[in-house]
Amino acid sequence: MDSLSITREMLKQLIQEAESKGATRIKRIVLEVGEMSGLDSGELHRNFDLLSRETLAEGATLSITEIPLNVRCLSCSAEYTASGYLMRCAACGSLASELVSGNELRVKEMEVS
Ligand SMILES: [Zn+2]
Repeated sequence: MDSLSITREMLKQLIQEAESKGATRIKRIVLEVGEMSGLDSGELHRNFDLLSRETLAEGATLSITEIPLNVRCLSCSAEYTASGYLMRCAACGSLASELVSGNELRVKEMEVS
């Protein structure tokens, strides 16, 4: 999915959620975006401005927190923050790891009125 479709889908869910609470306006949205999600926060802001027009979310403040890439070593289970493509465990030196966080797009908070 491209970032415009992702933003559209997210916004749709947020508006449904706000409507189910009887809100008339979304004031603030806090997002967590993983470093490896491939989503650019500047682009998300632009998509949001475009797609929120004439909806409950028009004029809402969008805050984006970037989540670093965290992985878990498959050999010794140590968790560490990876930078770049080569992820070497600081504890045992293994290159085998699984993703813990850094790939997400998550709504952390939403303020409505
Ligand atoms: Zn390890």
